[in-house]
Amino acid sequence: GDKLLDIKNLKTSFFTHVGEVKAIRGVDFYLNKGEALGIVGESGSGKSVTSMSIMRLLQHPGKIVDGEILFNNENLIPKTDKEMQAIRGNRISMIFQDPMTSLNPVYTVGDQIVEAIVKHQKLSKAEAKKKAIDMLRLVGIPSPEKRINQYPHEFSGGMRQRAMIAMALSCEPELLIADEPTTALDVTIQAQILELMKDLKSKLNTSIILITHDLGVVADVCSRVIVMYGGLIMEEGTVEEIFYTPRHPYTLGLLKSIPKLCDKESKQRLVPIVGSPPDLLKPPKGCPFAPRCDYAMRICVNEKPQYTNVSPTQRSMCWLLHKDAPRVEVINGDLK
Ligand code: SF4
Ligand code: MG
Repeated sequence: GDKLLDIKNLKTSFFTHVGEVKAIRGVDFYLNKGEALGIVGESGSGKSVTSMSIMRLLQHPGKIVDGEILFNNENLIPKTDKEMQAIRGNRISMIFQDPMTSLNPVYTVGDQIVEAIVKHQKLSKAEAKKKAIDMLRLVGIPSPEKRINQYPHEFSGGMRQRAMIAMALSCEPELLIADEPTTALDVTIQAQILELMKDLKSKLNTSIILITHDLGVVADVCSRVIVMYGGLIMEEGTVEEIFYTPRHPYTLGLLKSIPKLCDKESKQRLVPIVGSPPDLLKPPKGCPFAPRCDYAMRICVNEKPQYTNVSPTQRSMCWLLHKDAPRVEVINGDLK
């Protein structure tokens, strides 16, 4: 396919006074034009840091220390803040979990969308307003001509997220990054927002990166999925491969923790993965998942596994897939 984004060996660290926290430790992935990619992992896996790195929105003491972020074959890493400002909100837009943090409470929703449009496009205020109304209608906000004059607090949570999406898409970005866009919403609204994103992707041909801790959320919207843990990609594959033939114990753990479709309304989170992510101030030298993995072997603790390509579209970083890896000696519970 035609690559919109190509990330090579990305490493991002936070230089804190207690030392370097290696939040992303060498990540490679790509996104084709018009494609939706899911990035899944628990909090602390590095997925939000990845998106903030792409947007070049890392706050001090965060810093990209290595790699390339090619957007239409242009590396974003050496770009100046000014060059990035022309790209952000225009060619790459982002939506967050809580729209209240990105919508300004003292301006009407319409004024904010109009401002975003006027900033990047050569349109008059009147034309921008017309476009803002069209965008609100496109994202399913009823009576947009009236709604445009309301303030964010007059919108429900779901409507605010729709307004955020309208604002993010008003400049027709080539890439939309959505970081936990539905986490704060109830299940019904969540499904509506995901349906909307899917619909907009096909209407506007926007490429999407959907970041979530919930593997269940990516199934409808994305065609490919990356599973992150401990600042690394553990597994990558098509949605079908990740759901039906996962080859990494961490992916399996995430799958077991999604409620079954019929239980969606119940709060039952089935089998949670016991334990917590590694401390990236002292990254483990072996597999970062070893302390929590039911299949951990001695080699997992001592040496980082390489990727094994299990299909042309699926790769997994696990010793279990290595042809020479010992297969019998399960020592979990006895990790020193
Ligand atoms: Fe588990 Fe070892 Fe595979 Fe890591 S490399 S996921 S510890 S089996
Ligand atoms: Mg996050």
